[in-house]
Amino acid sequence: MAEVESFTLDHTAVHAPYVRLIATEHGPRGDAISNFDVRFVQPNEGEIPTAGLHTIEHLLASVLRDHLDGVIDISPFGCRTGFHLITWGEPTVPDVVAAIKAGLEFIAEKAQWDDVPGVSAVECGNYRDHSLHSAREWSKRILEQGISLDAFARTVV
Ligand SMILES: [Zn+2]
Repeated sequence: MAEVESFTLDHTAVHAPYVRLIATEHGPRGDAISNFDVRFVQPNEGEIPTAGLHTIEHLLASVLRDHLDGVIDISPFGCRTGFHLITWGEPTVPDVVAAIKAGLEFIAEKAQWDDVPGVSAVECGNYRDHSLHSAREWSKRILEQGISLDAFARTVV
C-alpha cells in the first residue's frame, strides 16, 4: 500500500489550531496543486460534533472562495479535528490562515441560517445533520485559541 503523508505525521507533536502545508504536487502539464492540513481541534483531545462540522463545511466551501483564490475543495477529516484544503497553485500558509480566519469570523459573527448553502434534501447527503449554533460556537473557540502558522510551535498572527 502507498504511504499516506497524513499517517506519518506525529499527531501527538502538533498544537492545534494550525494550518500546515502537507504537499504541493505538479501535474503532467506543470499545474501546481497544494494540500493543506487545516487543524481546528487538538488530535485525540476532542472533535467537532458532526452537525457543527457539517455546517462549517458548507459555509467554508462558499465563504473561503471569497478570501482565497484557487480553492478546489475543503473537506472534513474523518477524525473530525479539521479539514483538508486543496487549492490550485501555491498559496502561502499565512494566506490560508487569513482566509480561514475570515471564514470562521463570518460563521461566528454574521452567518444566518439563510447563508448556509446547500441544506435541502436535493443538495446535501444528510441535510438533517446541520447545526449553525454548533458551527458558531466552535468557530468562536478556534478564533479565541488563534490559528498558528506552525503546527509544532504556536505562532499565532
Ligand atoms: Zn452536506
